[in-house]
Amino acid sequence: MNLIFLGPPGAGKGTTAVKISDFFQIPHISTGDLFRGHIKNQTELGRQVKSIMDQGELVPDEITIEMVRQRLREPDSTKGYILDGFPRTIHQAEALESFSRPTAVIDFELRDETIIRRLSGRRIAPSSGRVYHIDFNPPKVEGRCDVTGEELIQRPDDRPEAIQHRLKVYKKRTAPLIDFYRKKELLFPLNVEKPPSEVFEEVKKLVQNHSS
Ligand code: ADP
Ligand code: AMP
Repeated sequence: MNLIFLGPPGAGKGTTAVKISDFFQIPHISTGDLFRGHIKNQTELGRQVKSIMDQGELVPDEITIEMVRQRLREPDSTKGYILDGFPRTIHQAEALESFSRPTAVIDFELRDETIIRRLSGRRIAPSSGRVYHIDFNPPKVEGRCDVTGEELIQRPDDRPEAIQHRLKVYKKRTAPLIDFYRKKELLFPLNVEKPPSEVFEEVKKLVQNHSS
């Protein structure tokens, strides 16, 4: 069960991936989370990608592909994985084929208006990456993570200027993957304009039907 969660930023891929990962016991591999981990740990890679990410640009393909290639070599991904945020370009998708074959690509579909509302209200716990939303998934205590109590922050790339730019980048560089995977008969479009619990149930059913 090698899953790809495709869709614009803010579609709810990460939120759903955490639950699907837990249910099917396969790792959730988010390239955004991996890069943010590098920035937090102040690695050389983190230094290279910080300003690119803050501006809502894509990290160069070669860096991203190499990071995923290495991650998929780890033993936990032998029985499957969820790739969240990768591939994001046709070149990345072609490179992925050379080291791993996706079995299903779930395409998260929603209107721009909904994307903007989800991204502008997103807050994260910096140490764990847990994701909240000020209206749709608020923490129990305002501004604090339910688990660690740490202060929630807004991602630099969730500021209004960066959001607009990321949407443009998505349409130009990532949306062509919809056709790429449709032609390979791997694409499962899913309308995600519904509560997180319903999105989870639908993805779960889709995965169960597809793997039986
Ligand atoms: P992505 O990983 O696709 O960028 P996230 O999972 O981080 O998206 O979700 C973006 C924001 O929208 C988060 O603040 C999250 O809490 C919220 N969110 C996720 N799924 C839904 C949903 N189905 N309905 C409303 N809000 C959602
Ligand atoms: P995300 O957490 O998926 O929204 O990703 C946050 C940022 O990380 C993106 O805006 C890019 O700057 C970078 N990034 C994540 N995944 C990729 C990828 N597959 N290719 C290039 N850049 C990526």
